[in-house]
Amino acid sequence: MNMSFKNDFPILNQKVNGLPLIYFDNAATSQKPNCVLETLDNYYSKYNSNVHRGVHELSQQATNAYEASRETVSEFIGSRKSNQIVFTKGTTDGINLVARSWAAENLKRGDEILISTMEHHSNIVPWQMVCDQIGAKLIVAPIDQKGQLIMDEMIKMISSKTKLISISHVSNTLGTINPISEIIDIGHKNNCKVLIDAAQSIPHFSVNVEELNCDFLVFSGHKIFGPTGVGVLYVKEEIYKEMKPFMGGGDMIKEVTFDKTTYNEPPFMFEAGTPNIAGVIALAKAISYVQQIGMSNINNLENELLSYATEELCKIDKLNIVGTATQKASVISFNFEGIHPFDIGTLLDQMGIAIRTGHHCTQPLMDFYKIPGTARASFAFYNTKEEIEIFIKSLKKVIKMLT
Ligand code: PMP
Repeated sequence: MNMSFKNDFPILNQKVNGLPLIYFDNAATSQKPNCVLETLDNYYSKYNSNVHRGVHELSQQATNAYEASRETVSEFIGSRKSNQIVFTKGTTDGINLVARSWAAENLKRGDEILISTMEHHSNIVPWQMVCDQIGAKLIVAPIDQKGQLIMDEMIKMISSKTKLISISHVSNTLGTINPISEIIDIGHKNNCKVLIDAAQSIPHFSVNVEELNCDFLVFSGHKIFGPTGVGVLYVKEEIYKEMKPFMGGGDMIKEVTFDKTTYNEPPFMFEAGTPNIAGVIALAKAISYVQQIGMSNINNLENELLSYATEELCKIDKLNIVGTATQKASVISFNFEGIHPFDIGTLLDQMGIAIRTGHHCTQPLMDFYKIPGTARASFAFYNTKEEIEIFIKSLKKVIKMLT
């Protein structure tokens, strides 16, 4: 069954350094199925044209496909209305948009933004920038050694000063799945908005924004088998009235004179300039593709891979898994005593195996564990148990070479 998935992804069918490619860097970016590649090609070769502007046939086709993609995304994440979907460049862009268009407009000196120790730099730095600008304070919820939020401590940190909780659904370094439903409820009881960084959850299991009742949710197209340079920001409709556009330009306006400009309705108000039209349309294709497979099937396949790889890695003496939460997605960070993760990654690459090494854009998390980085294997549904067997054998060889 898995093999047929692999055949959907032409890039996976190649040799790297003389050996069949094993791609275990899916948390950094995922590969693209043929249908996504064909959608990009089809757009550029058959109806490439600008959206929302032209009366001509191609522009109408492009506009229709672009807006149909908004519907697809909206439905996929359980949003009631597609006007709650803003197309962005990616997760980072979405968080910066909320920081500028909502936080900078609504927070004041002394207010607090709560994040956690395990956040990606893109869920830290934009808030630091806003805090510097307005005199607000960034508060960081602690985690335990397993890489789980210490909920009691986190709850104690929420007060009337807390205006926003911005939290990852799944940690890109540890794989931890955070109890976001609980966090959203606690946030709302304290009159505070909650942003979910869904960059690492959306490719792995189904996420429903209305059920979660989050205020903002962001993700990147490229991690869910779509192209780079496109992403999604979900905004709960009622919050739009608290937001001001921070990027001005074409498409986001109703009327412009030299004296005054009036803005278009949201979400268009937040999509200044020519968007990534091909990217948006291809993202919708990627979403249709995973929907066809079924998010629960994807989740089951990946959980099997995660369990198997964890089991096998645990058998290796002196190997330490970083991130052992009870609830995890298919990401495994590890270190081996006395070997730098970079050396593990470099030698595995020689064997055709792509993993990630380094701090994974979570330097404060590395500081918490007092380590410079980790080696990280992250799986997608197209990966197989056989690939994990080869990975484990190769890793053992690497360890032998370096010890
Ligand atoms: N948050 C998390 C949890 C991530 O894993 C990533 C990507 N590694 C990002 C944010 C940033 O995503 P992007 O670079 O696509 O904007």
